[in-house]
Amino acid sequence: MNLLRCSALSKRYGNKLALDKVDLTLETGSPIALVGPNGAGKTTLMSLLLGFIKPSSGDIKVFGKQPGSTALLGKVAALPQDAALDPDFSLATQLALYARLHGFSNKAAAREVQRVLALVGLADAANALPKALSHGMSKRAAIAQALIGNPKLVLLDEPTAGLDPVNARHVRDLVTELAGDITFIISSHNLEELEKLCGKVLYLDHGKLSQAVDLTKPDSQA
Ligand code: ADP
Ligand code: ADP
Repeated sequence: MNLLRCSALSKRYGNKLALDKVDLTLETGSPIALVGPNGAGKTTLMSLLLGFIKPSSGDIKVFGKQPGSTALLGKVAALPQDAALDPDFSLATQLALYARLHGFSNKAAAREVQRVLALVGLADAANALPKALSHGMSKRAAIAQALIGNPKLVLLDEPTAGLDPVNARHVRDLVTELAGDITFIISSHNLEELEKLCGKVLYLDHGKLSQAVDLTKPDSQA
């Protein structure tokens, strides 16, 4: 299924060209890595994908729709790098509220919370307060929130930054497990990790997409 189509996509902030005529077509499937130095335009591309900002020129379609359109509501989710739950309200309370905001009824919200907590291995922590969770568990709780409503595309910004190797491994395993149902776009500086996780790497530099390398086919460019 077509995930993303950008044609001559540009974004300007004042006279700063953050994205420069990006052409890109992606299909759903294995996780996709988004890499490039600071200032390359990664956050800008993610923000355009989410419909948080509008292109200056060119075109972007996610699942064939305009980002931010109601047709994509619930289909696209993002996990910001600093995503954190309120320390003082239980996971169940906060995730249920989030599910309610996504249109779930009270009863369905409670079921959805159980579903996503089970997916991330936190089924027993529903009543825990985030402040009592380890760093690794907090990250998984934030991922659980992003999974509410069963999105088809999930953007992860530095999902393992600041985690110890064991918890980073848990997060990677979780992504691999979920990758059958969800396409992930992962922005990270950890190239070794991305190589393990992702089927494709997008390199951005100075707002230009220099190449999209298919890791599943050695020496090929897609
Ligand atoms: P990355 O996520 O790869 O670090 P960004 O998309 O955040 O890159 O930024 C791309 C370029 O656009 C950088 O030069 C950045 O300073 C600039 N930029 C990003 N957001 C804004 C903004 N709101 N106003 C002005 N310049 C911005
Ligand atoms: P990243 O973690 O991807 O490198 P940044 O630290 O570059 O992100 O940017 C964080 C936020 O600040 C983004 O929302 C971006 O749009 C904004 N930003 C980045 N550069 C500028 C800038 N020169 N002027 C205004 N806002 C900026």
